[in-house]
Amino acid sequence: MDIPRIFNITESAHRIHNPITPEKLATLGLALRLEPGTRMLDLGSGSGEMLCTWARDHDIIGTGIDMSQLFTRQARLRAEELGVDERVEFIHGDAAGYVSAEKVDVAACVGATWIGGGISGTLELLSRSLRAKGIILIGEPYWRKFPQTEDVAKGCLANSISDFLMLPDLLASFGQLGYDVVEMVLADQDGWDRYEAAKWLTMRRWLEANPDDEFAKVVRTQLTSEPERYSAYTREYLGWGVFALMPR
Ligand code: SAH
Repeated sequence: MDIPRIFNITESAHRIHNPITPEKLATLGLALRLEPGTRMLDLGSGSGEMLCTWARDHDIIGTGIDMSQLFTRQARLRAEELGVDERVEFIHGDAAGYVSAEKVDVAACVGATWIGGGISGTLELLSRSLRAKGIILIGEPYWRKFPQTEDVAKGCLANSISDFLMLPDLLASFGQLGYDVVEMVLADQDGWDRYEAAKWLTMRRWLEANPDDEFAKVVRTQLTSEPERYSAYTREYLGWGVFALMPR
């Protein structure tokens, strides 16, 4: 079981698979006022940077589940590197339907809400692992600039304009689903560059190392077109943030 190969190639050098930077991830950890021993669950934990750095900085304990074998391996190595492998555990698997045996204080899905079939399904899934008065973290894009046409939405790799909301509407939608928005940390364009532009050097190096790979054509096409697509669309139109929610 694994995610499509293209992500394991283009994001192989990423510690954070989203437009949030290490500084903003640290800001979020502080903003949540985490107590030592806070128990966390992270669905789609990627290379584990959130759980590992918060275990180091705030003494949290937690479990991450991710479908990428590579990212899960990297998460375990990162935990060892930071000396927190006794506090955090990374499971390779499908997080769809995953409910923790013990209730958690913080249940997260950062940039992977398709796992629960969208925001409302993911909130429902996470809430099944959450203790009363716990916090849910959702990482999600929103329209920073509203796209005038469906082509612009497709340029942002969305299926349609209706995939995302403007920020006030996204925040209102959490309310409509029965949650208070109690904190948020938003990405900016520099953060988008760290996520997207970092893929380009990784792709270039991968192509040099794997010229005869059957996948080289796909990676070459992407490396050629991505800088222009990204700067014209995603960088201009898409915002992204992590939203901390508590059930009303
Ligand atoms: N939260 C991490 C990773 C976000 S990228 C971070 O912010 O760095 C999305 C992640 O979801 C990827 O690591 C991908 O491997 C994982 N993923 C995709 N589908 C999944 C599924 N069904 N179950 C678990 N993980 C999944």
